[in-house]
Amino acid sequence: MAQAFDVVVIGAGPGGYIAAIRAAQLGFKVACIDEWKNTAGGPAPGGTCTNVGCIPSKALLQSSEHFEHAQHHFADHGISTGIVKMDVAKMIARKDAIVKQNNDGILYLFKKNKVTFFHGRGSFLKAVDGGYEIAVAGDKPEMLVGRQVVVATGSIARALPGVPFDEDKVLSNDGALRMGAVPKKLAIIGSGVIGLEMGSVWRRLGAEVTILEGMPTFLPAVDEQIAKEAKKAFDKQGLKIELGVKVGEVKTGNKKGVSIAYTTAAGEAATLDADRLIVSIGRVPNTDGLNAQAVGLQLDERGAIVVDDQCRTNLPGVWAVGDVVRGPMLAHKAEEEGVAVAERIAGQHGHVNFNTIPWVIYTSPEIAWVGQTEQQLKAAGRAYKAGTFPFLANGRARALGDTTGMVKFLADAATDEILGVHIVGPMASELIAEAVVAMEFRASAEDIARICHAHPSLSEATKEAALAVDKRTLNF
Ligand code: FAD
Repeated sequence: MAQAFDVVVIGAGPGGYIAAIRAAQLGFKVACIDEWKNTAGGPAPGGTCTNVGCIPSKALLQSSEHFEHAQHHFADHGISTGIVKMDVAKMIARKDAIVKQNNDGILYLFKKNKVTFFHGRGSFLKAVDGGYEIAVAGDKPEMLVGRQVVVATGSIARALPGVPFDEDKVLSNDGALRMGAVPKKLAIIGSGVIGLEMGSVWRRLGAEVTILEGMPTFLPAVDEQIAKEAKKAFDKQGLKIELGVKVGEVKTGNKKGVSIAYTTAAGEAATLDADRLIVSIGRVPNTDGLNAQAVGLQLDERGAIVVDDQCRTNLPGVWAVGDVVRGPMLAHKAEEEGVAVAERIAGQHGHVNFNTIPWVIYTSPEIAWVGQTEQQLKAAGRAYKAGTFPFLANGRARALGDTTGMVKFLADAATDEILGVHIVGPMASELIAEAVVAMEFRASAEDIARICHAHPSLSEATKEAALAVDKRTLNF
């Protein structure tokens, strides 16, 4: 006999588990199904983000940053350390413990909010009177009926054609986050967020990292001035990034490692030999095992579930959120959609403002932005004013010993409304929150310029960049 629920959520990544909790808060009887297994075969809710994405990557970025500081920057503070060693196994174990804390935290939140969790693969069987029948295949097979269904099955790493991930020599994000030793030479294909973050981790630990990128421009989605500043910093660190290359044959048969044939931007044939290769060329929506065709759920040519701006699919009562639908593949975007869908199911006006979704790259320096870039404004023919302020002129940044980068404001030429804020520098991931709030409230650059910011703080650079829009910085 099938168990009936008001809402069945398939997938417990940030999109799914948040949708489930919000729906339960709104008084619905909610089930959430997730198939991710920990190493012991038990449930590991949290999806890509918790298990092999946002959280573990930030744990390794933190460990490797401490290592780099101890090796190269402590001496500036008068601290001598002798020989600094890295125990990779311990670093990975610490990362795994953080992941487990997050997995357990989600299971606790399900209990607290009375969401019934099912560990296994959820797939559509058929539409029935008043909903959809969903089978859960796992250790304990179950049959559920959901009056409303939210699909949040996420995404998986895209492989190079003909070069499958073996997670030994050819690594996806999964393998890149659990290497047992620092490779001497590490090749990365793709200089997007994941490639840069993983490259930073292993370079700081001592690997010689080369990133091959097909695009001729570095980080084309980032404001050009900010991307240039970041590239300068990465070059200085020794993170080798080759742009405009065309990757050819990738040989993995060699006992020693991987050999990548490619053509340089100048058209010359080249080969990159490395101990390991990380392929970070994007992610593809994941609907494997969902049995979408059984109910006629519409997918597009990329395999993403087709949704409208409210996350409604082509089927009545079936919604989809997060990486499995259009839009940026970001955990917080998935969460916002999850909340909005739960509220729409409850007859409320759930809302996601795509113009104010922040983006962050957690390298050093960090890169963060919200809104439009200067090149986008130029292309749109929008009249704007720009203001920048360098961290070099910020007292807190000097005290931290990290003065790379700047804050940049773009505001409408006539109304002064903030159109975009772009940061490269220390703690950009935290600083961007002020800009998101400002843009959500449609603030002007002058609004930020008139707000009292604590001294000394990095946030003063934000205020000064807002002042710079009217060419009246006080400290530069
Ligand atoms: P997912 O997190 O992918 O979760 C989907 C879940 O559904 C999984 O648990 C999967 O097992 C489950 N599932 C799939 N099919 C079924 C089925 N049929 N039955 C049952 N369960 C199923 N984003 C950020 O915002 N910030 C970051 O710093 C960041 N860092 C990242 C670093 C890396 C290395 C990677 C790979 C990604 C990173 N991301 C980051 C992206 C972020 O992880 C994703 O955008 C986010 O996880 C998407 O959430 P989701 O809920 O849509 O899907």
